[in-house]
Amino acid sequence: MSDIEAIYGSMVFNDAVMEDRLPSDTYAELSHTIKEGKPLNIELANAVAHAMKEWAIENGATHYTHWFQPLSGITSEKHDSFMEPVGDGRAITKFRGKELIQGEPDASSFPNGGLRATFEARGYTAWDPTSYAFIKDEVLCIPTAFCSYTGEALDKKTPLLRSMKAISDQANRVLEFFGEGGHHIITTVGGEQEYFLISEKDYARRQDLMLTGRTLFGAAPCKGQELEEHYFGAIRPTVNEYMKELDDELWKLGVAAKTKHNEVAPCQHELAPIFTNANRAIDENLLTMEKMKLLASHHGLVCLQHEKPFEGINGSGKHNNWSISYGKTNLLEPGESPADNLRFLVFLTCVIESVDEYQELLRMSVASAGNDHRLGANEAPPAIISIFLGDELGAIVEALINDRPYKSAERVAMDLGVDVLPNFLKDNTDRNRTSPFAFTGNKFEFRMPGSQVNLSDCNMILNTAMAKSLKSFADAMQGLEGADFEAAALKYIKQVLTDHQRIVFNGNGYGDEWPIEAERRGLANHKNTAEALPCFVDQKSIDLFAEFGILSEGEVRSRYEVKLDKYTKTLNIEANVMERMVRRNYIPAINAYATKIAKGITAVKEALPSADLADQEELLQRFLDGLKAVNVAYKALKEEHAAAEAIEDSQEQANAYAAKVVPAMEALRAEVDALECITDHGYWPVPTYNDILFYV
Ligand code: ADP
Ligand code: MG
Repeated sequence: MSDIEAIYGSMVFNDAVMEDRLPSDTYAELSHTIKEGKPLNIELANAVAHAMKEWAIENGATHYTHWFQPLSGITSEKHDSFMEPVGDGRAITKFRGKELIQGEPDASSFPNGGLRATFEARGYTAWDPTSYAFIKDEVLCIPTAFCSYTGEALDKKTPLLRSMKAISDQANRVLEFFGEGGHHIITTVGGEQEYFLISEKDYARRQDLMLTGRTLFGAAPCKGQELEEHYFGAIRPTVNEYMKELDDELWKLGVAAKTKHNEVAPCQHELAPIFTNANRAIDENLLTMEKMKLLASHHGLVCLQHEKPFEGINGSGKHNNWSISYGKTNLLEPGESPADNLRFLVFLTCVIESVDEYQELLRMSVASAGNDHRLGANEAPPAIISIFLGDELGAIVEALINDRPYKSAERVAMDLGVDVLPNFLKDNTDRNRTSPFAFTGNKFEFRMPGSQVNLSDCNMILNTAMAKSLKSFADAMQGLEGADFEAAALKYIKQVLTDHQRIVFNGNGYGDEWPIEAERRGLANHKNTAEALPCFVDQKSIDLFAEFGILSEGEVRSRYEVKLDKYTKTLNIEANVMERMVRRNYIPAINAYATKIAKGITAVKEALPSADLADQEELLQRFLDGLKAVNVAYKALKEEHAAAEAIEDSQEQANAYAAKVVPAMEALRAEVDALECITDHGYWPVPTYNDILFYV
């Protein structure tokens, strides 16, 4: 059993360590700088760097790295040691302020969407003092932002930080009207991470899993998730050991891993941390994903973080729980009587407006080849953005729009009918698991992000869109106070809610009627990544990012290119792997088994000329027909794949992948999977879903 109090945060250069290790005036100056988001001066940086190095070495570190989030992929690091030779054959350790605040990774190979020519590939990383440094595998990791020398952001953190500043500025303007201005306002995020655990032995035998993170073939298992026994079942011992080690390692890193449980699909699990400042929460989620992968090997397991590792059973998401707060005040907390809580209603209205206004950008922020398998399938929200408010808030919004007085429904005390259980107040919001953007009591839960995504993008967009709505409100209220302000604010709320009520949907998001209804309402429904990405470079988006200094037009365009590139490259790899597996694994295996049947027929005929061989011959014929169908589908994929690869324009190319290559891949898979079900298990070249999913 772990001593949580002793290990928690032991590998983090957190506030307590800073206070302990820094001279008090240095500590005060640093705290102030962090709070104000100001740049560090070099003397302060030198003092902090020295203390950090001493602490890191005491805790076993030999190297340091600027840890950052490139535009594709998860995190990057290059390790430098603290070692410095002194000339007489000995060495000392050194870490200077300038090495803390700025680094120069060899950046030429990071994706940049054409922002930098490779010959001027220099970029630099800059310490983000709002996220703590930590030690991981004997390396002091310094969370950093990554920019080009001309100042363009080359990472995901920089625009996120800019968006947090924008929302803080605008929310403060709004709070002024309520006599509460001047706060350091942050957005908070709790990211629930889903993942699969399978055996290393199976993984090693499946090229598709190794190279693409998902199974490109595989017939449905005899049993799926229909019994829901996994969700409710006990956590199995191997998995439990893994989860314990994971908790320990995350706690040491100050990640508040709180809840762990099995998920609906067999082999699927979830980890939910306690929410924190969005910037740190995202760093922590990235660390969690990394630790999940690394630690699995200690237990003979592999952690799959793909959005859809197995067809036909649930994929993995990453719910982004999001709110806005300062100090202990959560601005999305409705309080006892939300109808009277004007401040809450203003913020709620701004959320509704911003999500409706920038629904396409939000959908775009979670678009990826992997997530295309999830959104719109009957397990994850559809690709249409809508907001679930729940009964009480829904009624309040309706009353406001229709100018009716709202009578607060008595909070219902639910009697569970069992004496030992306490009665509890029914939450103001019931749960609607089918909504992509649901109000859950005092926060919104964005459920579209896939398990592999970096949450920076969707939070950057959410924050920026929200900043814009708050700004509009503050602009409209300029100069008003007291009763005048309240009357004007209510009028404003009524108008905005009326204009944006189409985004509120409390029904079943999985229902077949919803896409039709959504279309009638004029809501966007971008079914795949190729369709979802172009809105990023719409003038409306470019204007939004420019207005708040989040991304320049060049930065937006480069990000769009990087996303397109990632999408087509992912599908290109998948098509390559499919083609290779069909030729080298499946066709030889099916041929071998068909040959065995053929030989059997000949042998039986020889031994017993009068034997009835109709069944065997029919089976052989099915294999021959199946092989023909596999070959036809294989050739069709090759053709579509080559045609898509030849397209130069990146959006056109992505369109071709989505419209032509993906269906060709699905068709090929269907033919191979059909033969899997009739081929002798011993002949099948890879572990099947039945083998993989039910024993870890
Ligand atoms: P679920 O029922 O969706 O599994 P929970 O209600 O247990 O989830 O909470 C899910 C996540 O929401 C947790 O990570 C939690 O820390 C986070 N959360 C709670 N309050 C906030 C908040 N104010 N801001 C952001 N995230 C929050
Ligand atoms: Mg959730």
